[in-house]
Amino acid sequence: MNPAEIDTPVLIIGGGVAGLSAAVELSRRGLASTVVEREAAPGGRAGEFCCKAVAACARCGACRLGDLLAEAAARPEITLHTAALVTSAEQKDGLWTVELSPQPAGDDAPGPGAPLGERCSLTTGAVILAVGGQVFDPAGKSRFAHGRVEGVHSALELEAMLAMGAIGPGAMAPAKVAFIQCVGSRDAAGGRPWCSRVCCGYALRMARVIRHRLPETEVTFFHMDVQDYGRAWEEELPSLKEDIRFVRAMPGEVTAGEQGPRVVFAGPEGAPVSEGFDLVILSVGIGPPNGAGSLHELFGAAPDQDGFLAEEGPDGLFVAGAAAGPRSLNESITHAGLAASRAAARVGALLEAARG
Ligand SMILES: Cc1cc2nc3c(=O)[nH]c(=O)nc-3n(C[C@H](O)[C@H](O)[C@H](O)COP(=O)(O)OP(=O)(O)OC[C@H]3O[C@@H](n4cnc5c(N)ncnc54)[C@H](O)[C@@H]3O)c2cc1C
Ligand code: SF4
Ligand code: SF4
Repeated sequence: MNPAEIDTPVLIIGGGVAGLSAAVELSRRGLASTVVEREAAPGGRAGEFCCKAVAACARCGACRLGDLLAEAAARPEITLHTAALVTSAEQKDGLWTVELSPQPAGDDAPGPGAPLGERCSLTTGAVILAVGGQVFDPAGKSRFAHGRVEGVHSALELEAMLAMGAIGPGAMAPAKVAFIQCVGSRDAAGGRPWCSRVCCGYALRMARVIRHRLPETEVTFFHMDVQDYGRAWEEELPSLKEDIRFVRAMPGEVTAGEQGPRVVFAGPEGAPVSEGFDLVILSVGIGPPNGAGSLHELFGAAPDQDGFLAEEGPDGLFVAGAAAGPRSLNESITHAGLAASRAAARVGALLEAARG
């Protein structure tokens, strides 16, 4: 292997928090990297999250993205190509040669990073796949009536409504809001047995924002379990339970009532109860990355038993963040740091071998 053949020591696919963290970590170690992001701007899912602080910080992690974007932009070792896709990949003599193609940018204004202007080929010592997971499409659970009954929204749609100020004093003021947890997760019969890990915290933070803006609104949280989020979260649960009605039941369906959606669930005696709400929010989970199959074809990145990208792949291939399984923002950042240190060790070993 001739070190002069290397265009970029590490190639990172995906410019969400995991990809950006890996690039920053490599740069701190003095290694250059190229980040390839298919969208017009980097940031990934975290770019959709607004601050959930009410009286105090809600520890949602969303503000870490701004810090990462600023640090990545300030580090000259990091090259970022947006609106770019990998079209082929080949490994030879320990090096990967990856071909990139421009992908037509959407309507979004370009963010930091230059959109890839023309097809190009890069040779690299290590590839980090940081393509994130795919959010469950609520249409996949038709019994919850998303898109059919007015007032039924996914958690990400509620996020957008909260960010726009569409819910609160002087705007929409629902009297009753229900969250249905584990939509597209913990569902062995549906082939999705895993816990998505982040959606309980996400829903409860949004519930608290609603209660803060509209103290008269009653919020009900239908759940099977509440995902444990560590000690701080456990300490918060008692006060959340005073503020929010927790109902341990997985609703059977959502139907259209005269005043809005109705949630049908098993009551304390086991008999079905149908209760009306103004808004029903479906807590959609995280699944394997979109295009996992083509990443498998391109890089030989094998899926794990649930279809996420397995961390053990061909030499010089690493996986970071939610592509390897559901993770919070902070966990994705830590996971990416680990992938970066393994990629750095791999590049160091290649260069060492070439020298002697
Ligand atoms: C509904 C929901 C709520 C959540 N709430 C929270 C929360 O409150 N707190 C929290 O800590 N975490 C939360 N998370 C988890 C958080 O979003 C993830 O931890 C985080 O986004 C993972 O970062 P990532 O970089 O691995 O993936 P992503 O953020 O998904 O980024 C992946 C990037 O890769 C790009 N990409 C994908 N495929 C390609 C390709 N083939 N080529 C080039 N680029 C590609 C994508 O465009 C994207 O920019 C939530 C997740 C969901 C779905
Ligand atoms: S962690 Fe979340 S809640 Fe706390 S300040 Fe940052 S964005 Fe706001
Ligand atoms: S985090 Fe909560 S809502 Fe999400 S899958 Fe796990 S238990 Fe269900």
